[in-house]
Amino acid sequence: MRILVSNDDGVQAPGLHALVHALKVLGDIWVVAPDREQSAVGHAITMYEPIRLFPWDVPDADHTFAINGTPADCVKLAMTELMPQPPDVVVSGINRGENTGISVIYSGTVSAATEGAINGVPSLAVSLASFSFADYRPAARVALHLLQTVLRRKLPADTLLNVNVPPVSLHELKGIRVVRQGRSRYQETFVKRADPRGKVYYWMDGASVPLEETETDATEVRSGYVTVTPIHLDLTHHDFLSELAGWPMDLSAANLR
Ligand code: MN
Repeated sequence: MRILVSNDDGVQAPGLHALVHALKVLGDIWVVAPDREQSAVGHAITMYEPIRLFPWDVPDADHTFAINGTPADCVKLAMTELMPQPPDVVVSGINRGENTGISVIYSGTVSAATEGAINGVPSLAVSLASFSFADYRPAARVALHLLQTVLRRKLPADTLLNVNVPPVSLHELKGIRVVRQGRSRYQETFVKRADPRGKVYYWMDGASVPLEETETDATEVRSGYVTVTPIHLDLTHHDFLSELAGWPMDLSAANLR
């Protein structure tokens, strides 16, 4: 079994190391991860500068490459150049901080798994719902458990699993809930300052908006459950297709020519 591990917190992140340690029992671990923090880069890819490899050593990994690229770059490069054969599974994480609701759109962690799904490989994104909880071992054990389930079953095409784990010990986990992606989000604020030469700059900050939803990834992980959400690559709003097709959009009626 060949397992490709990536993340967006960077190759030095403790969440990635705990994940590799837990998954090692399954087989050959390939780590291809950004050489620095790449959180919230979404599905960006690097096209206008070279991607370079840096030798690295992650304990328990069989092959490790740090690259100056994004999470999506990592999985693309691993699959097309670095690995002699495609991976059997892609696991991204374990991210520092939850990836629920609208954050899924910005998440580099989810994007590494998305890249796996684009290439037809079963893929999981795993996040720990805390910026301060330092023990990634419970989340890593959950990741191993869910990965074993995924390997026994078959994910549908173009589908990845987004997993969020509450910041508690294994025996404090209340269970696993399969839930939809919610609408939870951050409200951004910008801190405005001046640099040492007097030029104004902005630095983004934000706070999570209180939830007005139930039974979603964000609500359930905050209630102490591991959440598992199937994410599909097709962003089309299928239920709206036929209504939209009935809107007046005829080119002939628009006097465009
Ligand atoms: Mn991150």
